[in-house]
Amino acid sequence: MSEIKQLPTRDEVDPEMTWDLTPIYSSIADFNTDFESLKAQLPAISELTGTLHQGPRAVETAVRTILDSMRELEKLYVYASLRHDQDTADAANQALLNRAQTLATSFSEVASWFEPELMALPEDQLNQWLNDDETLQKYRHYLRAILTQRVHVLSAGEEKLLASAGDALNASSNTFSMLNDADLEFPVVMDDDGHSVQLSQGIYDQLIQSTKPEVRKMAFQQLYRVYGQFSHTLAATLSGNVKTHNFQATAHHFTNAREAALFANHIPESVFDSLVDSVNEHLPLLHRYVALRKQLLGVKELHMYDLYTPIMGEPALSYTYQQAQQMALKALSVLGDDYIQTVQTAFNSRWIDVVENKGKRSGAYSSGMYDTAPYMLLNWQDNLENLFTLVHEMGHSMHSFYTTHNQPYQYGDYPIFVAEIASTTNENLLTDYLLNETSDPKVKAFILNHYLDGFKGTVFRQTQFAEFEHLIHQQDAAGQPLTADYLNQQYLALNKRYYGDAVISDDEIKLEWSRIPHFYYNYYVYQYATGFAAANTLANGIVTGKPGAREAYLGFLKAGSSDYPIEVMKQAGVDMTATNYLDQAFKVFEQRLIEFEKLAKTL
Ligand SMILES: [Zn+2]
Repeated sequence: MSEIKQLPTRDEVDPEMTWDLTPIYSSIADFNTDFESLKAQLPAISELTGTLHQGPRAVETAVRTILDSMRELEKLYVYASLRHDQDTADAANQALLNRAQTLATSFSEVASWFEPELMALPEDQLNQWLNDDETLQKYRHYLRAILTQRVHVLSAGEEKLLASAGDALNASSNTFSMLNDADLEFPVVMDDDGHSVQLSQGIYDQLIQSTKPEVRKMAFQQLYRVYGQFSHTLAATLSGNVKTHNFQATAHHFTNAREAALFANHIPESVFDSLVDSVNEHLPLLHRYVALRKQLLGVKELHMYDLYTPIMGEPALSYTYQQAQQMALKALSVLGDDYIQTVQTAFNSRWIDVVENKGKRSGAYSSGMYDTAPYMLLNWQDNLENLFTLVHEMGHSMHSFYTTHNQPYQYGDYPIFVAEIASTTNENLLTDYLLNETSDPKVKAFILNHYLDGFKGTVFRQTQFAEFEHLIHQQDAAGQPLTADYLNQQYLALNKRYYGDAVISDDEIKLEWSRIPHFYYNYYVYQYATGFAAANTLANGIVTGKPGAREAYLGFLKAGSSDYPIEVMKQAGVDMTATNYLDQAFKVFEQRLIEFEKLAKTL
């Protein structure tokens, strides 16, 4: 391991490299003024209880009052959490965040009457108000989205009973987190430099990418040895969690857990089925890539622990933050002047907290709300991965910027189903730019490998997870006990089908299901795959100059939650209920695979 480097403290960082939060609140005193004012407004929300039946004006008053308070609350919350993340050890920031959290709980309590009361109104009456009354028109989609849930809401008494069982129903998931995050102890293994290192989930992710086969193998075997010791317990926690999903779905009159989970964003189940069908049809492409990997790594046998090491060796590419900014501007210029001007503003107006400091939250994200800039947190390092992170987070922030500047507050955000589309479209645009920009075949091969690995990890792997998740929910509903043996057997078979004959499905991999936290998220992972594939297709349309592609894409960025995500995507030119967009994404994957195959022969 490298020597421990001394990070600067927060006040030692050059202010130009930090985000400027003063446009939100110029001082804590300003925060406090808004905080007290919102607190004083909350009782007014409770007082509106029981008024909705009075007519459209009463409904409008209630919606407006609740949304106004929510908007102020979000501003307080975003400010407190950004301050907290810049230095998590700062006690004053921690206190701000705690106060914002407490206020959020109070808000939820005083506003909890609204949705049940709205749903209890006679349907015909409410439809008539929505059609006739102009003041309600601007909330039309917002209110309808709540009303469509009506058929799946039980009586007040039943909902209360279910809510009170919440902790018990979530016990399996909590047990998994405790075991996985806190109690499991992993042995000491060897790192790249031959030093002993205590294995953990985070260290495993690094070591499995090592360019040294013996390092990867040891990490893989030792990690799974530990999971193997707890396989029956982990099968019980996963089974318990699946049973909770199936129970909740049946209780709320859904035909199955998948329908229930997708219903929240109005996603038809055909989106999920199209993804699984299309990925399975294109598995030969993955097999081809895996075979190429085996050939290029020059190994007699390719193992599961050889799938994450970069084929082209360690990245030799280095960029300063300033160079990365210039490259991002060039790569994204295909999106037009308007887009680029705002990216410039992001750089020049300090929307980005760039460098690492003591106590700063790790990783990277984009965050903000309707009345603030879409801020970005980075922990900058001079390498290719960070250049990709910069354009990725910029994609989220630009999505937020266009949405908040083109939609009213009630539609000024976007659901998770589309969130990763804007960020990965930018990554795809960067890939295309870098491939055109460089004449060095080694660099080109490295970029292609980066793209192919990203596609493998997001489209193929997440669909593999989605397929497994769906299988175990169906099997549980059909009465099949989800024992460790059953899960191992099913997972191993699935893994063999996905990766094909070129790789040895090492016995340990049958346990992979036992360590994936996403299997506790309830039909979440498929969205990574659909989002990446849609982004691939959108970016390809933009860079190849497909007529109308750029405008349609910008239209998508501006749409926010003004319609259901499937409809918003249709406007952008992607019908996610069909397989066409997936076919196009696989075509790009195949083209780049061919390019990589050719290039690799010359190196
Ligand atoms: Zn993202």
